Formats: sequence, structure tokens, C-alpha cells
Amino acid sequence: MSLNENMVRDIVSEVVAKLQMNEAVSGMHGVFKDMNEAIEAAKKAEEVVRRLSMDQREKIISTIRRKVHENAETLARMGVDETGMGNVGHKILKHHLVADKCPGTEDIKTQAWSGDRGLTLVEMGPFGVIGAITPCTNPSETVLCNTIGMVAGGNTVVFNPHPQAIKTSIYAINLCNEASLEAGGPDNIACTVEKPTLDSSAIMMKHKDIPLIAATGGPGVVTAVLSSGKRGIGAGAGNPPALVDETADIRHAAEAIVNGCTFDNNLPCIAEKEIVAVDSVVDELMSYMVNEQGCYLASKEEQDKLVATVMDEKGRLNRKCVGRDAKTLLRMIGTEVPDNIRCITFEGEKEHPLIATELMMPILGVVRAKDFDDAVEKAVWLEHGNRHSAHIHSKNIDNITKYARAIDTAILVKNAPSYAAIGFGGEGFCTFTIASRTGEGLTSAATFTKKRRCVMVDSLCIR
Ligand code: NAD
Repeated sequence: MSLNENMVRDIVSEVVAKLQMNEAVSGMHGVFKDMNEAIEAAKKAEEVVRRLSMDQREKIISTIRRKVHENAETLARMGVDETGMGNVGHKILKHHLVADKCPGTEDIKTQAWSGDRGLTLVEMGPFGVIGAITPCTNPSETVLCNTIGMVAGGNTVVFNPHPQAIKTSIYAINLCNEASLEAGGPDNIACTVEKPTLDSSAIMMKHKDIPLIAATGGPGVVTAVLSSGKRGIGAGAGNPPALVDETADIRHAAEAIVNGCTFDNNLPCIAEKEIVAVDSVVDELMSYMVNEQGCYLASKEEQDKLVATVMDEKGRLNRKCVGRDAKTLLRMIGTEVPDNIRCITFEGEKEHPLIATELMMPILGVVRAKDFDDAVEKAVWLEHGNRHSAHIHSKNIDNITKYARAIDTAILVKNAPSYAAIGFGGEGFCTFTIASRTGEGLTSAATFTKKRRCVMVDSLCIR
């Protein structure tokens, strides 16, 4: 067999990738060749972690927080370089948010009843070794926030990260183990395999030492985990609509929606993916978006070219477009725009493929509704029953209440960018695992614990 130029190029790039991978994993803590070995190591670490005092657990977590702050830029750059997706500046902010706002041991609380018949406590105990599957859209953010919450709950964790983000995920996993060792804890509080595959994920899902699996990703992985026979926490896909009614501050709505939509090039699952606005405000809203907020108004021809570029005929996303900025996407269809363009917009029907599909790109179609009830109906349709996230810009509390009841999502942000939901410019804690499908909502340390009732009858009540 003779080697042609393409074959040589493929072999060279495979060898280079292998060398780079060896370099990436050499000396890294928590990285194993085989999933069974990774689980065994995490199990040994878990036997130590479950006996640590809350104070010792918290020391590990505060060391992880410090290291995440110190490594925020490195992690952000690695994520963008490895996946080709997202925005370095925004990813830096996401890592600081994880370090500051993902709950630690303060989330583990005991409930008590004391009365004539004694004292009853409900305590939150660890599951053991948790299996976690993580996405390529927020790779290190999810690894770090899962590890903080799971270790705070007294568990250790084995990750099967997205293969396209394995180097970044390994870097984050190593950082957690270094933090544990520095704080006097064990190695391997977080583990993974060098090459995650569907097979390594299947081993994890069936393993006797994994009682709980947390899956963060699209519909396929959540369904796989929920069919595994284990308890599963399913943080699935979204397609969040932002509804704008006639009572909203339209200028503010335009700014907030475009800020949320363009954050990290629209990668967050909570980010605004389309707008539904009542007829009377559509023109004003779009004029602010285009004239003040850096939106490019795409013509019908450009929309068609975008459809043909960002997805195939079956509606499957072109991975080379996910998480890219607006300028890059427009260049792909032959349209050059100035640097201040950060989003693409157009008016379309709700069925338009760029509106109905969860693109994870800064493309914000606007659907015109004849009145508020019609807007709610269209937004509910566009959310596709994911029960994930939705947003509204309105000053009418009856409208907000009606929308909240109809759309029934884990997150509903009012009059602010979507990222306020994860504590960025809004109250509340941060997470990158939003359990939309299984109903836990925004996960935190408490989500990764099991409840135990401890009952003392006719004693220890000293009232
Ligand atoms: P993806 O579904 O392609 O991959 C997610 C993870 O699941 C990866 O580790 C992948 O290897 C694994 N996976 C995929 N199919 C699997 C299967 N059948 N069995 C076992 N493992 C499987 O998603 P992605 O592109 O990495 O991330 C984007 C998607 O994730 C979007 O749909 C987004 O909305 C969703 N997401 C949800 C949340 C949330 O908290 N709800 C957070 C981030 C991303």
C-alpha cells in the first residue's frame, strides 16, 4: 500500500495528538488508563473523605477555590484552545464565579424536630463515589463546580468528560487533587480516564461502587443515564426564550437580552436562545438591538446561508459553528462586519430552524406575537418541554406570574440577563449543572447527599 499526502498528514497529526496527550497527563493526579482503576482510586479516597470532619472538608474546598482563582485565565484559555468554542474573557469570569459562589459545606444542614416524644434529626450523608459526565461547553467550570459540591457532601467523584475537552478537564481534576493534598486530604478526590469514551461511560454506569450519576449535557446522555438502572441527576438541554411585553423597559430589555445571549458566545444552557415579543414592541426592540447593542440584521439570503452552514439537512449542529462569535459565523457565509458586531438577529416564525433549534451561537431570532397570551404560547412551544430556563422582560406581575406557571422551568429570570440566574449580577449561588429533567433544579452540595433520619424517643428533648 502506498501512502498518499493525506494519509501521511493524518498519521502525523495522530502522533502529535498522542504526544500532546501524554504531555498533558504526565504527572497529573487523578488520571487513569482504565475506568475500573479510576473508580477504585476514587473509592479509596472516599473511605478517607467520609471520615473527614466538616472543617477538614471545608479546608479542601477553600484550597480548590484559591487555586481556581489563580488558574482562571489558564483554564479559560485551555478551554477555548481545546474546544475552539467560547470567549476567553467570559470564561475567566465564569471560573471566578465558580470559585466564589459554588456552595461548600455550609449547604449541608441538619433538620430537627424536638417535642414531647423526643428528638428526631434528618442528616445529610454522602452517597460514596459519584459518577459525573460533563459537557464540552463549560468543561472545567462543570468539573470544578461538581467536585466542590460533591466533596462538600462527603463524596468523591469519577468523571467521564467530553472527549473534545479532555485536556482542560484533566487540568481541572488535577487542580482539585493538588488542593486536597495541600489541605491535608487524600489524593484522587476527583478521578478520570485518559481517554473517555462511550465504553468507559458504560463501565461507570454499571459499576457496583457508583450509586449515583450526575449527567450534564444534551438529551442523549441524560436519557442514557436515566436508563442505567442507577439513581441519576439529569441536567439536560434547554432552548430558553426571552419574552418581552409592552410594559417592559424596551431599551433595557434589548441590552440585557443581548448581554445574556452573547455571554461566552451563547454556550451556557441558560442563555437566551430566541426572543418572543408582542407586536407593539418588536420594531422598537429590534431597533435598540441593531443600533445600540451590536446586533447585525441578517437578510433572508443570509439567514438561508446560515441555516446551511450551522446545521446539516437533518438539523444536526455543525460543531465548527457552536460557541463561535458572530463575526466568525458571518465570515463563514461571506459577510464581513465591523468588530463591534456581537450578535446576529432577524425576525422569523417560531418554526424557523435558527429559532427552534438550540444552537449555542449568538444568533437571536425574534418571533412576533399578536398579544401576551400568544407570546406565552409561542415561548412554551419553543422551550420544547425541556423545563430548563426561560426569561421575561415585563413590569406586569400578572403577566410574569402567568408566564411562570405556563412555562414551568427550573429557571425564570425577570428583567435581567440570563446569567443572573447563576449568581452573576443576581442573588443566589452558582452551578453549571442545572437538573432540568429530574427536577433538582440548580444543583449544590445538598443535591449530592442522601437523607438519613435519626430518632431518639422520649429523651434528649430538654424544653
Ligand atoms: P453532549 O450531549 O454532546 O455531551 C455531554 C456529555 O455526554 C459528554 O461527556 C459526552 O461524551 C457524553 N455523552 C453524549 N452522549 C452520550 C451517551 N449516549 N452515553 C454516555 N455519554 C454520552 O453535549 P455538549 O455538546 O457537550 O454540551 C451541550 C449540551 O449540554 C446542550 O444541549 C446544553 O444545553 C447541555 N447542557 C446542559 C447543562 C445543564 O446544566 N442542564 C449544562 C451544560 C450543558
